[in-house]
Amino acid sequence: MLSKLNHIGIAVNSLEEALPFYRDRLGMSLTKIEVVEAQRVRVAFLSLGSETIELIEGTDEQSPIRKFIAKRGEGIHHLCFQVPNLEESLRELKRKRVRLIDEVPRQGAEGARVAFLHPASCHGVLIELKEIKG
Ligand code: ZN
Repeated sequence: MLSKLNHIGIAVNSLEEALPFYRDRLGMSLTKIEVVEAQRVRVAFLSLGSETIELIEGTDEQSPIRKFIAKRGEGIHHLCFQVPNLEESLRELKRKRVRLIDEVPRQGAEGARVAFLHPASCHGVLIELKEIKG
């Protein structure tokens, strides 16, 4: 059902503060910075070979990322896996009694359709599913 790991999401206070570390010190390449209004975040995608890291900054006080950082500090926020058919995956997971945060897909970065699984069902890890056809 999952095809591969798509990216690892890291919650940061500020992209401007975090980018010099990931880009300049670790040498990852910045591929894109994007605001995702619906999720109240600004994200930066960095790549290293075929692997991708997403740095996520909250854009206002209501942002789930700001709340996450207030509670737990900066750090790994979620793992994202690719799926070829998101509705089918959500149906299947629901049938297997996995707790879903999103019963229906929502709009994620890069215009992709995404949905989150509840950490309570994933041994403490927030999991994002991102639809990538084929
Ligand atoms: Zn993500």
